[in-house]
Amino acid sequence: MSTKRDYYEILGVSRNAPEEDLKASYRKLALKYHPDRNPGDKEAEENFKEAAEAYEVLRDREKRTIYDQYGHAGLEGSGFSGFGGFEDIFSSFGDIFEDFFGFSARGRARSRAQRGADLRYDLSLGFLDAVFGTETEISVKKKEICPECNGKRCEAGTSPETCRHCGGVGQISRNQGFFTVRTTCPICRGEGQAITHPCKRCRGAGQVLVEKKVSVKIPAGVDNGSRLRLTGEGEPGSYGGPQGDLYVFIHVEAHEFFQRREDDVICSVPISFIQATLGDKISVPTLNGNKKLRIPKGTQPGDVFYFHGEGITSLRTGKRGDQIIQVDVKTPTNLNKKQEGLLKEFAALEASKLSSKLKNILKGGAAETVN
Ligand SMILES: [Zn+2]
Ligand SMILES: [Zn+2]
Repeated sequence: MSTKRDYYEILGVSRNAPEEDLKASYRKLALKYHPDRNPGDKEAEENFKEAAEAYEVLRDREKRTIYDQYGHAGLEGSGFSGFGGFEDIFSSFGDIFEDFFGFSARGRARSRAQRGADLRYDLSLGFLDAVFGTETEISVKKKEICPECNGKRCEAGTSPETCRHCGGVGQISRNQGFFTVRTTCPICRGEGQAITHPCKRCRGAGQVLVEKKVSVKIPAGVDNGSRLRLTGEGEPGSYGGPQGDLYVFIHVEAHEFFQRREDDVICSVPISFIQATLGDKISVPTLNGNKKLRIPKGTQPGDVFYFHGEGITSLRTGKRGDQIIQVDVKTPTNLNKKQEGLLKEFAALEASKLSSKLKNILKGGAAETVN
């Protein structure tokens, strides 16, 4: 097995160095050993690669943990094999080089392929559609590969010509301090080619804006804020990059009877004070039709009853929540003479009970005023 230097030693940092220190230290080394600054210097090249590898490992929490525990052998065991060459380094650290040097390293090594943009669609759903799931079609405005030129950007029968500005290299070199900075050619944007006869349909963009119908399958149990990902339904990538994704954000409309709390549904059912007093059997709407509920004698306002397993199917566990029924005891109004008379009679019988209870609470005196 080849001997390798310790990553912390390479970067010249302590074993518990925070991310910023790693980055600062790597930046210094990368500047010092940058191939543009040390053309043809094999040793600088090795140092540059070594520093990149050390930084690649230590900035990654998972790899760093493996390295701390098992060293180089541990990383090899987990499939990390360092970098093959500069191209690997530049493609891994494209963004970092951009902020190190103030220009992009992408042009020289990274493939130009770029993933298409992700799209967002906000979808309003009825309460029951969210509960039971549904399938719907949405209309999404998005870019697609131009059907006329197939994304090639030039008119049929023509082909791109070599860019005169950069001579087809895609980059322009200029000297800056010690080293040569290569920047992407502003005319051909790095492609090295210029399109002389752009496609008329897409005006040379290779993509056109379309309104596309997309079918969306909504799983049972989605809730407000649920997010569905439709892989590959975003915008097309450029230069052969993959399509982006489409994210559908769910907004659930309120229901007149049911309310949702996690996977339970809550509802409020009015009953008369007679039903509450004497007990009754009532019919309560559930997500799956009406169901009988027994109201026991002496039910109090605010009492809660359950239909177990009549709630919403959980997206995560597949189990159904409960239905929670709150009774809303109504006081009767508009009584006729006879009803009123009966209640007064009842009240006379009940009054002695209530007032003796109050007497106990108030210890006489004030209770005398209550009848
Ligand atoms: Zn076109
Ligand atoms: Zn050019």
